Amino acid sequence: MSTPIERVPKRLFIAGQWADAASGATMPVEDPATGQILCHVADAGPEDGRRAEEAAVAAQEEWARTAPRARSEILRRAYDIIISRTDELALLMTSEMGKPLAEARGEVAYAAEFFRWFSEEAVRIEGAYGTLPDGRNRMLLMRRPVGPCLLITPWNFPLAMGTRKIGPAIAAGCTMVLKPAPQTPLSTLALAAILQEAGLPDGVLNVVPTSGPGALVEPMLRGGRIRKLSFTGSTQVGRTLLTQCADTVVRTSLELGGNAPFIVFGDADLDVAVDGAMVAKMRNMGEACTAANRFFVHTSVADEFAARLAERMGSLVVGPGTEPGVDVGPLIDQAGRAKVADLVADAVERGAKVLAGGETPDGPGCFYPPTVLTGVDPGSRLMGTEIFGPVAAVLTFDDEDEVVRAANDTEWGLVAYVFTRDLSRALRVGERLEVGMVGLNTGLVSNPAAPFGGVKQSGLGREGGRVGIEEFLEYKYLAIPA
Ligand code: NAP
Repeated sequence: MSTPIERVPKRLFIAGQWADAASGATMPVEDPATGQILCHVADAGPEDGRRAEEAAVAAQEEWARTAPRARSEILRRAYDIIISRTDELALLMTSEMGKPLAEARGEVAYAAEFFRWFSEEAVRIEGAYGTLPDGRNRMLLMRRPVGPCLLITPWNFPLAMGTRKIGPAIAAGCTMVLKPAPQTPLSTLALAAILQEAGLPDGVLNVVPTSGPGALVEPMLRGGRIRKLSFTGSTQVGRTLLTQCADTVVRTSLELGGNAPFIVFGDADLDVAVDGAMVAKMRNMGEACTAANRFFVHTSVADEFAARLAERMGSLVVGPGTEPGVDVGPLIDQAGRAKVADLVADAVERGAKVLAGGETPDGPGCFYPPTVLTGVDPGSRLMGTEIFGPVAAVLTFDDEDEVVRAANDTEWGLVAYVFTRDLSRALRVGERLEVGMVGLNTGLVSNPAAPFGGVKQSGLGREGGRVGIEEFLEYKYLAIPA
């Protein structure tokens, strides 16, 4: 019996064919729980990028003509296949990324749901016909696919960040080149094989894992044939890509970093707030753009909240994600862990008290313990950067204006969490927070049926929901004198 890793094609997927890189290069995929190499996959270079782009461009016209129902049914079949292979895909994801199997299964369901959602949207692309105000002219408004797209995904949700882009692109009739993160190519390659099995025509999706993203991507963005970039990743890389898109005015959707405030008012239900904090902080080991980064807790409940959070976080089981009973897997790599440890050391130097965790363990793998810090100085580095690890930094506040100002005092604006039993306050604060999403008495906002995205330097555009497909469609208007 072969293993899920053995069964994944480890080559580039271009024009419906599995192929080695033109240079013959490969790159290793590591298990972050052990540091061991799981396998090697083909490592695309600029020449492979050109071929993938060529395939997407060649397939575009016919794909745009394909019946919406046919596009819809490909997505629906792929949804069914993904769900039927949940355990296999979860194991693959845990092996290359580290998250515990239960969380990986959750991501498989979340990822599949984007295909089901957009299979339903594919057949609801509407236009309009109308009389213009002068009474003489008519307007025919149609929706057209944007054209060949470049999709770039991060490692933290290797399957869902792919389906959140591929789903609407297929539904809208766009072809694609997808560059997955080099740490997690296996989930994406498995997804490409599933779409092929579901009947996706050759060239509609092309997948090019690479260890040299700049040399592969920049010529595509500056070349004038790619019509859209959809990127999920850090704000820093997003800025670079936006600059490259300027040359040929490529349409962009950017899902970038966050620095989420988690606000607990004095009247909050603390059971609900601590449960919410566990999700908002610990989902994906804290390696999420939506992860609560700064906890602002009203002075009247701060000690109790921090003590209860420390107790819950301190009792989580840390270990390889494949082992039963493990709640917290390893971080993605040694660099990711070193960054988290540095941020904690800086906060402690500035006077923070460690209520749980805080020590980097010895031994193999990139593990870091769930950590709770109180008395955090607002000047600490972790206040102004994504921690991307299982560290909760707790600060206190006394009034509403003060906490809204502090929460908004960041270049990011992805998501905020607010805990209160006062509905008026919830709405007031919800309106004033400079973010794209607010979790009200909940630590989880992500849902394929809701528009996901941020304001300020957290990005441009939305993914999911009714608007998700809009990002892949243009308006075209026909003027008709009648
Ligand atoms: P990253 O370093 O920005 O990388 C994201 C992707 O961009 C990777 O595939 C990466 O490949 C690629 N890349 C890097 N430099 C590039 C270049 N010059 N040209 C083309 N591609 C390039 O981010 P990450 O560390 O993988 O992911 C974590 C970040 O993603 C966090 O900031 C997180 O907040 C954000 N994120 C946002 C959302 C959201 O929806 N808003 C969701 C998930 C994650 P290489 O690894 O080879 O550089």
